Amino acid sequence: MSKKVQVAVIGSGPAGYTAAIYTSRAQLETTVFAGYQSGGQLMFTTDVENFPGFPEGIMGPKMMMQFRTQAERFGTSIVDMHVTAVDLSHRPFKIWTTLPEGTDPQKLNDYTPEQQKELAASIKASEPEYVANSIIISTGASPIKPGVTGEAEFSAKGVSYCAVCDAAFFRDKETYVVGGGDSAMEDALALAKFSKHVTVIHRRDSFKASKIMQERVLGNEKISVLWNTTLEEIIGDQKVTGVRVKENGEEKVLSADGVFIAIGHRPQTSVFVDQVELDGHGYVVTRQSATEVGVTKAQAALSEGLVQYPSMTSVEGVFAAGDNVDVRYKQAITAAGQGCAAALDAERWLERQES
Ligand SMILES: Cc1cc2nc3c(=O)[nH]c(=O)nc-3n(C[C@H](O)[C@H](O)[C@H](O)COP(=O)(O)OP(=O)(O)OC[C@H]3O[C@@H](n4cnc5c(N)ncnc54)[C@H](O)[C@@H]3O)c2cc1C
Repeated sequence: MSKKVQVAVIGSGPAGYTAAIYTSRAQLETTVFAGYQSGGQLMFTTDVENFPGFPEGIMGPKMMMQFRTQAERFGTSIVDMHVTAVDLSHRPFKIWTTLPEGTDPQKLNDYTPEQQKELAASIKASEPEYVANSIIISTGASPIKPGVTGEAEFSAKGVSYCAVCDAAFFRDKETYVVGGGDSAMEDALALAKFSKHVTVIHRRDSFKASKIMQERVLGNEKISVLWNTTLEEIIGDQKVTGVRVKENGEEKVLSADGVFIAIGHRPQTSVFVDQVELDGHGYVVTRQSATEVGVTKAQAALSEGLVQYPSMTSVEGVFAAGDNVDVRYKQAITAAGQGCAAALDAERWLERQES
């Protein structure tokens, strides 16, 4: 028989645990589905220096264990399983955690819509493990990784996916940014405030970033660009010491202290394909999405001058928070703030259903 929950939080990063702390403290029976990588992106980093409340900084995994403990303190039940299928067409919403034999959970978030549909169809033949009155989607977005030799080995030892988070650790150092879009430009500019020199590695002969961002980068005397260049390897010992690149087909090894990968993020939302509205990049659309479609939704939800349930998705009773919605900021504190907002929206929405 399916287990009933009032609030199902899918995802266990800063957004999910914060949402659970709020709904549990509001006496709503809450279950967090933590996924196969419990704790989210901060489990892969070392020092977090920009989350308020930790003046000396805190290790990412330690902070996420504290989030989890705090949620459990208020009665959140945590299921260390991945949600493999959902049916959001009727309430209560159905949730499956079945993992068919031979399925690699690590690959689930990279499934194409067709693969996900096939998986869901096989799973949905059985009864769902859980049914929920409301859902908060907080499955995050993972940075796209080029997968070059040395990248995984030196992750958090000179390889970073977040310049806003880590630029300050590279004062007077030699840093590299891989990418050519707006995020890469933002990262290069953030690093230029600290680094001795920043080199942007870009595989084409022009950037796809907005003109204004390109101008800022190209006009910054601390930043140079390697055009038509690919990153082939990240070299190091205990930490990064260099990069091997191919510039116009010619290989070279350059000395480096930091390598920042800025080639985009992939929202971990494949399980919600055809269930809630996603934008063209896979981000969950809510009434507070910082995109044109989000603005349209917000306008449609205006009532007496206020947007009703800003964190609600296209499905009533399903809310979303954190990096899977946030096309812009992708910080632990913004994810936590959105988790809080989604919890308050869910709480108010549930109250109205009962009254
Ligand atoms: C290396 C690195 C260093 C960073 N350093 C900082 C920093 O110093 N400061 C800062 O503010 N930010 C930092 N960030 C960014 C920060 O980690 C993210 O903004 C934040 O974690 C987003 O929180 P979230 O809750 O939205 O998602 P996430 O932290 O991504 O958590 C999402 C969770 O959902 C789970 N999940 C996914 N799909 C499913 C499913 N189907 N079922 C169940 N669970 C699922 C995932 O396994 C994961 O546990 C860093 C990011 C990286 C990659």
